[in-house]
Amino acid sequence: MGVTFKAGPIPGIIESVLYNTNAESLPANMKLFLERYCKVEKFIMKVFKRTEVLMYMSEHFTRPLTLLYAMEKIRFRSQESMTIHVVGANNFEEVGQQAWEVLMHWLPNLIFLRVILIGPECATVNTQVTICKICNAKEKKLYVESYGLLYKDYFEGRIFTKPDIVVGFNAGLRIYNTWTDSLLMLTRVKCPFILTTFWEEEIDIDHEIMLKTFGHFARYTYREKNPFASLRPYRDVVNIKVFSRNCGILIYTKLGQNQLETNFTNLLLGNQINDKGIQPLNMKIEQRNTQFSSSVSEEMW
Ligand SMILES: [Zn+2]
Repeated sequence: MGVTFKAGPIPGIIESVLYNTNAESLPANMKLFLERYCKVEKFIMKVFKRTEVLMYMSEHFTRPLTLLYAMEKIRFRSQESMTIHVVGANNFEEVGQQAWEVLMHWLPNLIFLRVILIGPECATVNTQVTICKICNAKEKKLYVESYGLLYKDYFEGRIFTKPDIVVGFNAGLRIYNTWTDSLLMLTRVKCPFILTTFWEEEIDIDHEIMLKTFGHFARYTYREKNPFASLRPYRDVVNIKVFSRNCGILIYTKLGQNQLETNFTNLLLGNQINDKGIQPLNMKIEQRNTQFSSSVSEEMW
């Protein structure tokens, strides 16, 4: 019998994730996490193949675990209350909202988690997610909101809430044409930005696009194959290549800070620089965006 892959996690899957009461660091990869920290009912292991169960669970936990991995890499200390923006979100993120409870189990001090999904494919919904008995007893709260907007429009709207971290899962920067304006908003949001890719080679492609958008200020803190990628492979029917969710990861921690500081420097030096024929940085970025936007056609961010 094979595992049926549903977009949303099956009830009970979250309860299988142990509480990280000793505040341990993540193990080296997804497989080790599932083996050490997920107590799958014995009857499930009797009915289904082990590899299928691991693939199933990793498919649902790859997003929160990728975020936790990134937080560890940049030594981001979790707070009692956290707000996460998921940009370029789609239906997969919407139906998989319960998986975010993994953060509650792994971060003992996290009490209030608000995950905000933003993307034109999303419905506009605000949900308080039903959490497990243990989380309830600890008075934890998990809210998932979604907005059918481009990030730029969400950022400029009244509903904007400042995030602690912004994530773009499998964003496909080269495919969609509206990400440029939205990405540039990150310089004003001023928080770490995590970007993931479906393919390993897409890591370099997406970083090139970040460079085209931000210039050399798009310095990544980490850029590597993600050890917490989903273990479930997919086959691309066009290129006949295998890919998986969150295969590659890029982490930008000071995307906004450097640029703002440099723009401020330009402002201070102002005319002196322009007299020498050097354009302020923000003008250069605007020109790059115009050039790139004309080469892509769809809308996602
Ligand atoms: Zn729980």
